[in-house]
Amino acid sequence: MNLKKDKLISVSFGEIALKGGNRGYFEHQLINKIKSVTKEFSRVNIYKDQGKLYIESDESDIDPIIRKVRNVFGIVYISPCYRVEKNMESIGNLAAQIAREKKEDLGKEELSFKIESKRADKNFPLKSPEISREIGGFVLKNIDGMKVDVHNPELKINIDIRTNAYIYIERFAGRGGLPIGTNGKGLLLLSGGIDSPVAGFMMAKRGVELSALHFHSYPFTSERAEEKVKRLAGTLEDYCGNIKLYKINLLNIQKEIRKNCPEDEMTIISRRFMMRISEYIAKEMGINCLITGESLGQVASQTIEGLTVTNASVNIPVFRPLIGMDKTDIIDISKDIGTFEISIEPFEDCCTVFLPKHPVTKPRIEDIENSERNLNIEELVNSAVKEMEIIEFK
Ligand code: ATP
Ligand code: MG
Repeated sequence: MNLKKDKLISVSFGEIALKGGNRGYFEHQLINKIKSVTKEFSRVNIYKDQGKLYIESDESDIDPIIRKVRNVFGIVYISPCYRVEKNMESIGNLAAQIAREKKEDLGKEELSFKIESKRADKNFPLKSPEISREIGGFVLKNIDGMKVDVHNPELKINIDIRTNAYIYIERFAGRGGLPIGTNGKGLLLLSGGIDSPVAGFMMAKRGVELSALHFHSYPFTSERAEEKVKRLAGTLEDYCGNIKLYKINLLNIQKEIRKNCPEDEMTIISRRFMMRISEYIAKEMGINCLITGESLGQVASQTIEGLTVTNASVNIPVFRPLIGMDKTDIIDISKDIGTFEISIEPFEDCCTVFLPKHPVTKPRIEDIENSERNLNIEELVNSAVKEMEIIEFK
């Protein structure tokens, strides 16, 4: 028997399917993202078949492509699969071949299996349960030692009837979420710490396209700190696509604050400057929101009072996706996405020389604004922004 079959990859997307009128746009963005992460492979072709995407490529590229595409937001499952002629004979023969190979691979006398069918093409003459029953019967008849177990099978053969017929046996979980770019743009305040890369990841997962801004206090902080931030941004790019990374020296502002404001307000006032500068840059670049890695109660400046006073320095929306998360949960995500090992390297991002021993934990906006009257805020912000540099990290 000469069974005609092609090996390829199927991609299931979840939430996008719910987006009604926007669905076409979401799918288009998803296809673009898949294209961009598979650029390095020759002969990749992506097509849609009744609600799923399929990626054709050289067979030897299938596994590496799956590893890359799995991380594209918007994908729920991804599977290596076969495409066969859309008739019961071809489907049955391929199912039997898969069962035989699996049984041999596992070296088992007996193998339990189940057929699960989906019929997106309602013109196909058999209904899903009928397809499963017939193909199951065919496998039982033709391969010795197979037995049906619908509850806990060792082998599940999935049949998908669309414009073409497809069969797959394993599927890998994707990251879910929505394709990058379907929810506007955000400026991530990226320190070298554990939290901010995770915050960026979480917003990107909801479709936000990221740019990142890093504050440093060079020469008080080292170039190693910048190296660290580059590697963090590079790791985020595996999920978030291209990220533009900017840096700004905060040293002059920190010195001015130290000279002119009470010591215990140093942190909160510095943070208000970071926010103002970030807002300025976001507006210049047509970015709609700021993203930070703050989490309620984690450090002295992240009390409700602290966050309120920080927030009051800007008008742009500030998203804090980690606000209700425990540190241990944040660490789990950072390990999963590969930023943790980089984040825990010791180099400081902003100068610790300026950190107060006892920062205010319940700042009052009137007090802070009063202290800031000793500073020329606009000029400090403008001159910091003027010195902004792009960090190249490709
Ligand atoms: P992280 O683990 O992200 O460094 P943190 O626990 O150290 O956070 P803070 O120092 O209060 O907390 O910073 C809160 C948030 O402010 C950070 O998550 C980040 O978004 C932003 N931020 C702090 N320092 C910098 C910096 N040097 N450059 C850019 N953003 C910063
Ligand atoms: Mg930090």
